[in-house]
Order: sequence, then C-alpha cells, then structure tokens
Amino acid sequence: MAKTMIRIPESIYRRMVKHAQKEKPLECCGLLGGKDQTVQEIFETQNVARSPILFSMDPKEELMVLEEIENQSMEIIAIYHPHPRTIPFPSEVDVKMAFSFDVPLVIISLKEKDDSIVKAFRIRKEAIYMENVEVI
Ligand SMILES: [Zn+2]
Repeated sequence: MAKTMIRIPESIYRRMVKHAQKEKPLECCGLLGGKDQTVQEIFETQNVARSPILFSMDPKEELMVLEEIENQSMEIIAIYHPHPRTIPFPSEVDVKMAFSFDVPLVIISLKEKDDSIVKAFRIRKEAIYMENVEVI
C-alpha cells in the first residue's frame, strides 16, 4: 500500500499540541477537517472517558462536528488524541476503536517533557500503516 501523507498547517499543529498539553495527564481528542489530505480546521472535542489511557467522544458532539465539517465542504482528515505518557503508537484500545471508522489516527506523544512527537497511522485489519505528517 502506498504511503499517504497528511499536511497540517503549523498553526493548527500548535493548537493540537496545546490542547493535548492542557488536558495532560488525561487524554484529549479532536477532529481535523480539510481537503486533499490537507488540514484546514481543527475541532477540539471532549474526552468523555476522562482517562489518561483512552479517549471517547461524546456521540452528540462528534455528530455536530461531522455536520460542521460537511457544511464547510470538508472531509475528516484525521482523528487526533495524545498519549500523555507513552510513545506515539496505537494502543490496543486505539486499534479496536479504529475499526469503527476508516480515518487515520494522529497521535501526539507527550512522553518527552520538552518535545512533542506527532505521528499518524491508518489502522486496517491486516496491519497498521504509518502515514507521513508534514507540517506546512
Ligand atoms: Zn491512544
């Protein structure tokens, strides 16, 4: 499978990392909307699980964001969430959850105190594929 790429404008990238840092030690979550693999808008959502190891979006909030993305003629580019204490690789829970939607997962690792690492993955039944993230 060809590697695909997600392009994130620097300002949105920063907001995403800030959102993750603000909720630390709990996980946050959100959606990235845009076109042609390029993010145009960030939608911060509540992690109703209030957990440091997993996230769950409120279905009503998720639906509202999806409608907003559609209203703005965008697509969902990715769903993001942080790993406050672990490496940026999908956890078992992430993998299970990702089967319910065919959207890449962006993971922000805050494991290193001064440096956040952002990676993206496409999770399929047969394997986990890494996607390139380009900050533009
Ligand atoms: Zn995770």
